[in-house]
Amino acid sequence: MYRQTWMEIDLDAIADNIKAIKNHCRKKIIAVLKADAYGCGDIQVARTVMEAGADMIAVSSLDEAMMLRNQGYKKELLILGATDPADIDIMIQNNISATAYSTKWVKGVTSRNCNGLRVHLKVETGMNRIGFRDIEELKKAKGLLMLRGCSLDGIFTHFAKADTDRDMTQKQFERFEAAVKAMDYPFRWIHCDNSDASLWFRDPLSNACRVGISMYGYSSVTDRLKPALGLYTKIFMVKQLGPGEPVGYGSTYVTSGDELIATAPIGYADGFIRANQGRKVLVDNVMAEVVGRVCMDQVMLKLPESRPEGSLVEIFGKHIPLQQMAEELNTIPYEIICLISGRVTRIYIKNGERAEEANERLTKSSVNG
Ligand SMILES: *Cc1c(COP(=O)(O)O)cnc(C)c1O
Repeated sequence: MYRQTWMEIDLDAIADNIKAIKNHCRKKIIAVLKADAYGCGDIQVARTVMEAGADMIAVSSLDEAMMLRNQGYKKELLILGATDPADIDIMIQNNISATAYSTKWVKGVTSRNCNGLRVHLKVETGMNRIGFRDIEELKKAKGLLMLRGCSLDGIFTHFAKADTDRDMTQKQFERFEAAVKAMDYPFRWIHCDNSDASLWFRDPLSNACRVGISMYGYSSVTDRLKPALGLYTKIFMVKQLGPGEPVGYGSTYVTSGDELIATAPIGYADGFIRANQGRKVLVDNVMAEVVGRVCMDQVMLKLPESRPEGSLVEIFGKHIPLQQMAEELNTIPYEIICLISGRVTRIYIKNGERAEEANERLTKSSVNG
């Protein structure tokens, strides 16, 4: 890494969070590592969570599943989203479990040689995204899959409002329970709880929690997890401007007096979106406003007092919680971290030290020590 802009990922915190979640829910853990582990690096996070006691990894697509297989991940792997029945050979060869989410999908799969395909049935209970709404249809799908030699590994559903609505979550759970009972089958995996539900919803039916964001220490239902992520850059220039000077594209900001304007190498191409204009970030130990439009590669900050070039800028991290940044941008932590682009080097902390610097677009990842 030559440019001083990086995302920090504390693998120790992730491991501690996995252990804490597992200890709390006392079920198996399915770590959801879709979208390159929410932007944190799928293989590094996969290694960490499996060592910390996770039992399976789930991703969103066959592409993501193959990315993990190609990097050497060998244990259980589930695709939560849609797949093309034409691709079942790849899934069978690579021992990847697919989600059965509609009669059309099941017919597509069972019209081919699907012997040995591992399947989790998806029950639709309130998201209206993918899954079987009707129990009779689900029963028929199960029968057809079994008849054609598929392995029925699991059954699951997904909650829509686990963070805010206990009644709706309970209703969704009851629909799921009815479906599971109607199947009358000893599924190895029964799962419905995402991060928020895993942390407060207690059910006697499921045997696994399916968690994503809470692994990184973010939750709207508890503050006992350890935040694991940060985004940083460094000031590379500071200038003193007099009153009436424009800053940035469109001159949307004009100084009102003598001002110190710093420039740092982060912009919207890194995922630091233009909506950050007017927000504050931490420079050294003072809060500095983002002034002028955020550029593709750079941003200008108004320093309330002098700070030297080279000063550390925290976009979010130990002092500015990711949740606070998300609220100020009218979004959720998930979106902010998923948008941090491949240009930003990922720095991994392990045993309290910088263990690895990864930027696939710059070099293959390198391990120091
Ligand atoms: C993303 C996802 C999860 C994980 O959600 P979190 O809120 O990050 O815990 C679980 N299940 C499914 C089906 C998902 O798509």
